[in-house]
Amino acid sequence: MKYTGETLPCIFFAVLCIIFVMTQKRSQSVKNIPLAAPDITKKEIDAVLSVLKTPVLSLGPKLPEFEKNLAMYTKRKYAVAMNSGTSALHLIVRALGIGAGDEVITTPFSFIASSNCLLFENAKPVFVDIDPLSFNIDVSKIEEKITKKTKAILAVDVFGRMADWKKLQQIAKKHNIFLIEDSAEALGSEYFGKKAGKFGNASIFAFYPNKQITTGEGGAVLTDDRKIADLCFSMRSQGHDKNSSWLIHQRLGYNYRLSDINCALGIAQLKRIRSIIQKRKIVAGFYKKHLGKIRGITLPPLSIPHQKMNIFVYAILLDEKYTAHDRMRIMEGLKKNGIGCREYFPTIHLQGFYKQKFGYKMGDFPVAESISNRTIALPFFNNLKEAEVRKISTVLQSLLKTK
Ligand SMILES: *Cc1c(COP(=O)(O)O)cnc(C)c1O
Repeated sequence: MKYTGETLPCIFFAVLCIIFVMTQKRSQSVKNIPLAAPDITKKEIDAVLSVLKTPVLSLGPKLPEFEKNLAMYTKRKYAVAMNSGTSALHLIVRALGIGAGDEVITTPFSFIASSNCLLFENAKPVFVDIDPLSFNIDVSKIEEKITKKTKAILAVDVFGRMADWKKLQQIAKKHNIFLIEDSAEALGSEYFGKKAGKFGNASIFAFYPNKQITTGEGGAVLTDDRKIADLCFSMRSQGHDKNSSWLIHQRLGYNYRLSDINCALGIAQLKRIRSIIQKRKIVAGFYKKHLGKIRGITLPPLSIPHQKMNIFVYAILLDEKYTAHDRMRIMEGLKKNGIGCREYFPTIHLQGFYKQKFGYKMGDFPVAESISNRTIALPFFNNLKEAEVRKISTVLQSLLKTK
């Protein structure tokens, strides 16, 4: 072999390449699997970039377009998009005139925002325990909690499972109170053929990156009630009405606006909603295949009668023999193996400041507490691979066996 001046650099380069490939392989085999991950395609990136190339980054055409698409998708008359699901809940509470001295019946098994929105306006959340199968508010226990102060029921479609809206609507009608639907976790789910976000006097969606579709941060109010829509529209942007000028304010308002950059992302995501629902179904199917025969856990249902489910988080339930300490050990084991997981949800009534403010204690809502103590949310997102689910299954199985 004849050495030229180029041979040495060539060999050097080849060795570098081999080292690079090897380290890539290695880092892939220990790659972390996050709890959630957004599904952003070129379509979303192009949509956002195209807004950035215009002079109007907020209150431009993308906001009403996103709202129109949301309203059409859920068959609602009005959608008012804003900067978070929490803001959307807050504005519904204000639009319905719920305030100091009022009570609202709600679930302790939810993300804390569904209850905090009542505290913002000094209304009192009155919790009702949950149904052990759906994890949603137990409708058979609501009426005993209704008093003269009860203004509304705020039910949550938790994990993408629909609450019992037929019964909820009956109760609300009978007692002449409002219904608020927190469907932040259920975009794309259906109940008797109607989409989540269609129930209640007003409903919300949220678009944080772990939700079924994302705008980065964002949320929306959905309603068929013109008055609620107008009030939310006004309060979203400093309290001025539709036709009033920029610096004239009809009521107390906020800056809860959602920029056109976020809206463009939302429009592109919502266009893909069918494929997103399909992808999530496939991932849930991987879990059923690989976790289905593991002892010691109950898997979340893949289907519920009269419902279509767009799963939000995939939370398995440990058998009752596992203690709180066991769950901690199992979760630590998962994390050590690079597998994201979380206890979804710690109950709201046992959050420190709720206990302090309202005197709630352990044992108040035994079903919610029992479930809350035994759930582990596993990685769940549109592009989760079967190989990753297989790995999660293997690790989980070995952690469960040590009991
Ligand atoms: C995500 C979520 C919210 C709030 O959404 P943000 O956009 O994070 O404010 C409200 N309720 C429930 C049940 C949620 O899961």
